[in-house]
Amino acid sequence: MLFRQLFDAQTSTFSYLLADERSRKAMLIDSVFEQHLRDLALIRELELSLCLSLDTHVHADHVTGAWLMKEALGSEIVASRAGGAQGCDRLLVDGDVLELGALRVEARATPGHTAGCLSFVLHEQKLIFSGDALLIRGAGRTDFQQGDPAQLFHSVRERLLTLPDDFTIYPGHDYSGRCSSSVAEERRHNPRLGDGVRLEDFIGYMANLGLPHPKRLAVAVPANLVSGRPETPAQGPPRPDWGPVVRTFAGVWQVEPEFVFAHRDELRVIDVRELEEVKASPLGAILGSRVMPLSGLRARVAEVPRDRPIVLVCPAGARSAIAATILESAGVERVANMRGGLLEWRSLGLPGETNV
Ligand code: FE
Repeated sequence: MLFRQLFDAQTSTFSYLLADERSRKAMLIDSVFEQHLRDLALIRELELSLCLSLDTHVHADHVTGAWLMKEALGSEIVASRAGGAQGCDRLLVDGDVLELGALRVEARATPGHTAGCLSFVLHEQKLIFSGDALLIRGAGRTDFQQGDPAQLFHSVRERLLTLPDDFTIYPGHDYSGRCSSSVAEERRHNPRLGDGVRLEDFIGYMANLGLPHPKRLAVAVPANLVSGRPETPAQGPPRPDWGPVVRTFAGVWQVEPEFVFAHRDELRVIDVRELEEVKASPLGAILGSRVMPLSGLRARVAEVPRDRPIVLVCPAGARSAIAATILESAGVERVANMRGGLLEWRSLGLPGETNV
C-alpha cells in the first residue's frame, strides 16, 4: 500500500492519501480546499488514479477539497449518510466496506463530535483514520454540530479502542506536531478517553474545555454541506489561462518544453544561466530568450517584462524552478518553469538555437 500523510498548517488538518500499488487506485481522506493544487500534484506525480474522496465528517474548521477533486479527476465524493451533505456520489452507513484494488476500508460510525462522524479502518494494514472522534491524547470537541460527549465516549471506547493494540491511529487534526498513535498508547495515556476514565469524568472534562468558537464555522459548515463546491469559480484555486500550466508538489508552476516551442512568440523566455555559461554551453539557447542570471534575479525583478507570460529555463529545470518561485513571490502573475530545462528540450529534438 502507498500511504502519505499531508498537513494543512492553517487549520492543523491532516489529509491522507492511500493507494493500492498494483492498480494505482487511490483515495484521499479529509482533503482541504486550499491544498487542492498540492494534493492534485502529488496524485499526478505518483501516477495514481484517484477514485474516492472521503470525509470523516462535516468539518467546521476547514472546507473539504472533495468537489474540486471530483471536478479535476472525476473521483467520487463519499461521506456519511448521517452527515447530511449534498453532492455526494456515495453515502456510507456503519459497516459499509469500500474496496480499492486490494484495499478494504471499513466505515465505522463514531458519532459524538458530530452526529455523522465516521472512522475508517483497514484491518489488514492495521490502520485507523479516526477523524475528530479520537485525537492523539485527546478527543474532538462536542459543543456544537449536534456534539454529544456521552455518545463520543461510547463511540471511542467501544468502537475504536476495542480494536487490537497494535493498530495505528491517524487523527483528523493535531495542534502540537503529533502525527500518529496506537490503540495501546491511547488506552494507556489518553487523559480523556483512556482506560480507567469514567463517562462522568469525560463529560465533566468536555464541559469545561472553554474553547473559543471555531473561527470558520459560519463559512466551513455550509460549504461542506455542498461537498466543498465553490459558489463561483473565482473562489476556487488559481487556474492559469495562458497555457497548460500545472502546479508541482514542490510548489512550482510548470510547462512542457513542447508548449514553449510552439508558443515562443507569445511568451517571454528568460534563461537564468550566467551569460558566460550560455555562450560556452553545447546546449545552445532558445531563440529570442533573454539572459537574466538567477544570481541577480531578485534585484532585477522590476526589469522582468509583464506583457506576456514568463517561462524560465536553465540546463535541467532546477535553477529555473527557483527563479519561478522568486518571480511568483515578487508578484509576477503569469510565470512558469520549463520542465526538464534545455536538456529535456534537446532530448525531445527541439532546436538548440544559439544567438543570445
Ligand atoms: Fe471536526
